[in-house]
Amino acid sequence: MTVNNEGWSSFKTNKWLFTTPSSSYSRPRTPVSNSRVSEGEENGKVPESPSKRANRPRTLSDRGNEILDNHEAVRNLYAWNWSEVRENYPEKGIHNPSIFCYAISCVQLLSHVPAIVRILQDHHCNDPVCLCCNWKRCFLKSQNHAGNISWFREAFKRDRKFNQGRQEDAHDALLAILGKLDKIAVQNPRLKDRKVADDLFGYSIRNEVQCRNCKNKHVFYENNTVMTVRMMKKDPSGRNHSIKDLMQNVFTTSTIYGYNCSNCKKKSDAPVKPTLLRAPQILLLHISRFSFDGWGKKISRPVVLNETLDVSTMATAGASTVYKLCGAVIHGGMTLDYGHYWCVARSRRREQQFVTLNDSSVSNQMSPRDMLQSYIVLYRRAEHLNSGLEKSMI
Ligand SMILES: [Zn+2]
Ligand SMILES: [Zn+2]
Repeated sequence: MTVNNEGWSSFKTNKWLFTTPSSSYSRPRTPVSNSRVSEGEENGKVPESPSKRANRPRTLSDRGNEILDNHEAVRNLYAWNWSEVRENYPEKGIHNPSIFCYAISCVQLLSHVPAIVRILQDHHCNDPVCLCCNWKRCFLKSQNHAGNISWFREAFKRDRKFNQGRQEDAHDALLAILGKLDKIAVQNPRLKDRKVADDLFGYSIRNEVQCRNCKNKHVFYENNTVMTVRMMKKDPSGRNHSIKDLMQNVFTTSTIYGYNCSNCKKKSDAPVKPTLLRAPQILLLHISRFSFDGWGKKISRPVVLNETLDVSTMATAGASTVYKLCGAVIHGGMTLDYGHYWCVARSRRREQQFVTLNDSSVSNQMSPRDMLQSYIVLYRRAEHLNSGLEKSMI
């Protein structure tokens, strides 16, 4: 098979239109943009304009068909033990003065990732509105029974984000936080110049397009940190879809109509097969439940969260990576603007136990019904859990 990196130039001038052979909604062709899903995308119309796609940065194309598994390297860089700090950070709520649940739920979710806690611990700087310094000071290390969140919007003021005094989207908040994490200076010399969010949450998808006319194959790559999965059409049997079904659906073959082949210079409807080239250390999934058509709508159908998730059927090389469910941001309510977000996560003290963190309240109960309404889901590699106190963890 030829890996034709020049395919990108024709790729970016093609008008991309995807359909799925299954009964699902169109498969998410926009994980790179990470923008909210428009109604057009949900209904299988043009998911992303060619010009927008053309302006997207090339990420892995230059590296050809190499399998990029940096797992060992990342594990060596970020390895540490919960026991080092777990007693210092008991479960704690965050006081919500008004409409900050979108931010609080994400801060709680990420505060249950050992590597993030460690990075926050190792970071300090002189910026008074630094997201990470304040996250640590006002929440993790706060002596109060609940932390505060006033620092969140301050941290994004310069970026003109989250300043409108209204409920925002937790997915947007999550991406904004990961963006800041990628830029913070970590005082640990080993992690100098690392892109923390990409190391911990980054994944890569390899897309293979085959021209129907000359059979030439073109490969292009996508790199991202949060994987958007779409709700699928209702199963006629009444069965609820699982998060694995939704994720598997990202990796089904779809069709590009009018694909412009750079080899034979002819147009054809070409199949594109995506596979997971680099499985992330920590898998973050965003379930696209909201659509916007002048008026926000929500798809409230339940999604079952698999406790264990093996992505071998999606992997480029069929390699098995097993994840364990570690947390979720749940959305309650029928619309984006008026609903409420809260977080469920594995307890820092006892990983066998889930805790519910709803603004300032902390509960050791977890409602399975709530979990069906998850909006953001976090999985960690199974090898990093229940590993005893001395084994490395991420
Ligand atoms: Zn700082
Ligand atoms: Zn061709």
